[in-house]
Amino acid sequence: DSLVYMGQQARGHCLWSLFDKIISREIPSTVVYEDDKVLAFRDINPQAPVHVLLIPKVRDGLTELGKAELKHEDIFGHLLYAAKIVAEKEGIVDGFRVVINSGVSACQSVYHLHLHVLGGRQMKWPPG
Ligand code: ADP
Repeated sequence: DSLVYMGQQARGHCLWSLFDKIISREIPSTVVYEDDKVLAFRDINPQAPVHVLLIPKVRDGLTELGKAELKHEDIFGHLLYAAKIVAEKEGIVDGFRVVINSGVSACQSVYHLHLHVLGGRQMKWPPG
């Protein structure tokens, strides 16, 4: 998996098909929550004891937060609520962080909108 990821990353930052392949199960992942609109799975390179990625199943042009349109507002609401469900399931609902990296200078590497749900340790502020 990481080789697929790194190979695609090396070809540039227009990488979105990776998460489509996770949705279709072509690339395996550890799913922690799923409903008809979103999929949550463990990050392959965790930055905290709990590090889950939460993605919309239908990308609908939503590569990054900075390219969001008004038509996407419902899915944003659903994703944030699903982040709380994930935090509950993972036992971190009393303290967790949700991150969206948008664009190259925020170090976004996969251009399929995703929320990072992080917890299980003391978080620091500001993030790097
Ligand atoms: P960054 O790579 O800088 O964290 P992103 O916000 O685009 O930028 O996050 C993409 C995330 O996807 C990374 O945390 C990375 O570890 C994760 N990732 C990449 N490939 C996989 C995979 N096959 N399964 C699970 N997570 C993956």
